[in-house]
Amino acid sequence: AKKRGGNGFLFYDRTMNAASTERVALESDLRHAVERSELFLEFQPVIDAQSGTIVSAEALVRWNHPRLGRVPPDRFITLADETGLIVDIGAWVLNEACRCCRGWHVAGFSDMKVSVNVSAVQFGQPRLLEAVRDALSHSNLPPKALMLEITESSLMQDAESTAGMLRALRNMGVRISVDDFGTGYSSLSYLKRFPLDVIKIDKSFVRDLCVDEEDAAIVRAIIALAHSMRRSTIAEGVETAEQVELLKRENCEFFQGYYFGRPMNIERILERLEAQKVQ
Ligand code: C2E
Ligand code: CA
Ligand code: CA
Ligand code: CA
Repeated sequence: AKKRGGNGFLFYDRTMNAASTERVALESDLRHAVERSELFLEFQPVIDAQSGTIVSAEALVRWNHPRLGRVPPDRFITLADETGLIVDIGAWVLNEACRCCRGWHVAGFSDMKVSVNVSAVQFGQPRLLEAVRDALSHSNLPPKALMLEITESSLMQDAESTAGMLRALRNMGVRISVDDFGTGYSSLSYLKRFPLDVIKIDKSFVRDLCVDEEDAAIVRAIIALAHSMRRSTIAEGVETAEQVELLKRENCEFFQGYYFGRPMNIERILERLEAQKVQ
C-alpha cells in the first residue's frame, strides 16, 4: 500500500514527522523559557466608555524564542496546556502582572486594574488558588485590582468544580470575567448560576458589527443579557470609531482594541496614564 501511495503519500508522511519533531523541540525550549527569562508581558489598555480613559489593562504573554523570534501565544499556550507547563508559566504571568499593576499604583494610579488570562487546564486545578494568593501577597496588590479572564468553554467543563473554584476566587476578592463570550456554544444558564463580574464580547462579533446586521443583533443581545443580570461588558477587538459609536449607543461599558492601543510594554502604559492625567 505504501508503494502505491507514491510521492503524495511520502510527502504527507514527511511533513507529519517534521511537524511532530518541531513540536518536541518547541516543547523542550518552552520548558526552559521561564528560567531563561524569555517570556515577557505586554499590556493592552481597557478604556472606560464614559470617561474615555484607561482604567485597566490585559496582560498578554509573549515568548521571545532565541532562534524563532516571537512565538505567538496561540501557539505555545496550547502546547503549555497539553504538557502541563502552563502551571509554571501561569504562575509566572500572575506574579509579573500583579507586580506591574502594583507599580502603576505606586506611581500614583491606584485605581488601575489588571486582568490575567487563565487557561482551561489552569482553571481545572486547585493550585490556581495558591498561585493567585501568592501573586497578590508577593506584589502587595489589593485583590480587587486583579481580574481573571476565564474562557466561556473553560467554565463549561464541570459545573460543580467550576462553581467551587469561582466561589473560592471570589472569596479572595478577585474579580472574574468571561472571555471570548459567545463562541462557546454553551447554555446561558451558567451566567445566572456563577458569580461572574464582567462579560467580554468576543472580537469575532465586534469585527463586522457595523456591516453585518446579524453580528450587530448578537452584540446588542449580549449587552442586554449582561445588563439584565447586572454584569458589565467589555467589547474586545474594537478597531474603528464607528464601532465605538455603536457600542456606546448600546451602553457597552468598556472597550479594548487596536483603536485605543495595541498591546504595549509596561512603561508605555505608564506614559499613557500620565498623559491622561494632565488632560
Ligand atoms: P484573548 O484573551 O482573546 O486576547 C485578545 C487577543 O486579541 C490578543 O492576541 C490581542 O493582541 C488581540 N487583539 C487585541 N485588540 C485587537 C484588535 O483590535 N483586533 C484584533 N484583530 N485583535 C486584537 P494575542 O496577544 O496574540 O493573544 C492571543 C491569545 O493567547 C489570547 O486571546 C489568550 O487566549 C492567549 N493568551 C495570551 N496571554 C496569555 C496568558 O498569559 N495566559 C493564557 N492562559 N493565555 C494567554
Ligand atoms: Ca483575554
Ligand atoms: Ca478574548
Ligand atoms: Ca481568544
